[in-house]
Amino acid sequence: MPTIAIAPCDRLHDYEEAVRRAGGEVRVLDRAKDRPESVVGAVDGLLLAGGGDVLPSTYGEAAHPSYDAAEPGRDDYEIELARRAVEADLPMLAICRGIQVLNVARGGSLVQDIDSQVGTSINHATEDSPVATAHEVWITPGSLLDRVMRELVESDTCMVNSRHHQAPKALGTGLTVSATAPDGVIEAIEDSSRRFCLGVQWHPENFYRTGEFRPLFEAFVEASRG
Ligand code: MN
Repeated sequence: MPTIAIAPCDRLHDYEEAVRRAGGEVRVLDRAKDRPESVVGAVDGLLLAGGGDVLPSTYGEAAHPSYDAAEPGRDDYEIELARRAVEADLPMLAICRGIQVLNVARGGSLVQDIDSQVGTSINHATEDSPVATAHEVWITPGSLLDRVMRELVESDTCMVNSRHHQAPKALGTGLTVSATAPDGVIEAIEDSSRRFCLGVQWHPENFYRTGEFRPLFEAFVEASRG
């Protein structure tokens, strides 16, 4: 059974369940003990989870007033993990803050506050139930996300939940857009030169009970089998 490392975060339960139900064994990392350089050689896949904002100076910007810092040490730790995972071609699924970490780790930047910086009528930061769908996403035909989701949806659109106020802006090296919201906000990115390197801005793990995104986790775990 492939071991999936999950970078520590506040709401672990759903990430763990989603990985387990897809056939993966979970190893929750400890920032104090598990150095990124040793992690990439010791696990079969990496999941980067949700959380606070990445420090804007890491992508060369001053902080917007809405900046909401992540736990001390988390930015450096996860950016290093993401860099090393891409380098080692370790399968990676990056969720919410995770997609932002992935993009910044590859030299990209972020929309710091969708509400004030993007003209949109879509509410990306809904406070409804975690499994309430908020908006649709348009999936890039032929992308990894498209191939994985094809068994779920027959069209190129799919409904997702949404609890984010930031999103990828300029894309990092090697990354392409796998999905956008109808307002143009980037909702998924991938590096197609890697075995499995995918970031999504929504929270597929919240649907573990009903399985809407199980193929996403199954494809990730399957890629981690090597
Ligand atoms: Mn959204």
